[in-house]
Amino acid sequence: MTRTLAVANQKGGVAKTTTVASLGVALRELGRRVLLVDLDPQACLTFSLGIDPEDLDVSIHQVLVREREPSDVCVCTDEGVDLLPATIELAAAEAALLTRTGREHAVRRALDGFAADYDWVLLDCPPSLGLLTVGALSAADEVLIPLQCETLSHRGVGQLLDTVHDVRQFTNPRLGVLGLLPTLYDGRTKHAKAVLDTISETYDLAVLGPPIPKTIRFAEAPALGRSILGTSTSHRGAAAYREVAAGLDRAAQPSP
Ligand code: ADP
Ligand code: MG
Repeated sequence: MTRTLAVANQKGGVAKTTTVASLGVALRELGRRVLLVDLDPQACLTFSLGIDPEDLDVSIHQVLVREREPSDVCVCTDEGVDLLPATIELAAAEAALLTRTGREHAVRRALDGFAADYDWVLLDCPPSLGLLTVGALSAADEVLIPLQCETLSHRGVGQLLDTVHDVRQFTNPRLGVLGLLPTLYDGRTKHAKAVLDTISETYDLAVLGPPIPKTIRFAEAPALGRSILGTSTSHRGAAAYREVAAGLDRAAQPSP
C-alpha cells in the first residue's frame, strides 16, 4: 500500500527539502519504491538530486494544470528514487489554479493512479501555507513537521496545525499528523537541549527521533547533486535519517 507523507512547515530553512531527500533515499536503501514530489517553485529538491531545473521542458507544473501526465514528467535520479521535478514555472501553477474549482485537490488528482506504483510518496512543500501546501496536505495520509532546534519560538507550528485542521474539515478528513522532527540540532549546546525539551512540552504531538544533528555536510550535499546519504555514507547525519526512515517503514508494515 502506498503511504503519502507531506513534509511541511511554512518557515523556510527548517530542513524540509533535506528531510524529503534524505528520508527518500534511506527508504530506497530499505528496498522501497519511492517517489519524491517537488512542490516548491524554488526547485531546491530537484536541484539537490542532481537535476538542473533549467534543463527541464516539463515539470509538476504541467501535471497540476492538467497539460501532462505524471509519467511524462517523472525522472529517475542517480540515487534510485523517482522525482516529479519542479521548475520556477510552478509559481504560475499556483496562480492558474486559484481560479479553478477543486483546486485543493490538484495534487491528489495529479498523483492519482501514478502513485500506486510506489511504497512511499514524499511531498516537499514550499515555505508558505498557500495552495501548494494545502494541496499537499489534501493528498497526504500524514504530515511530518520538521522543526529547527535553534530557536525557542515555534509559533508557526500552531498556524500549520490550524491549516491541518481546516484540511481535515474540508478536503481530507483522514489526514494524520505523524509528528515533529527536530532538525539542525546541536547537542553540544544547552540551548538546543532546552529547545528540544520545550518542543515536547508545548505540543501534544509525537516527537520523532533521533534529532537530526547540525553539520556542515548537509550544506555541501545539494551542490554535489546528491543527498547526504549519497555523499558520505557513514556520516552521523545520514545515520540519523536512516534511523528515522527505518522507524517510519516499520510503522507502515501491516502487523502480523
Ligand atoms: P527548507 O526546505 O525547510 O527551506 P532546507 O532543507 O533547504 O530547508 O535546508 C535549509 C538549509 O539548511 C540548506 O542550506 C541545507 O543544506 C541546510 N541544512 C539542512 N539540514 C541541515 C543540518 N542537519 N545541518 C546543517 N545544515 C543543514
Ligand atoms: Mg525547501
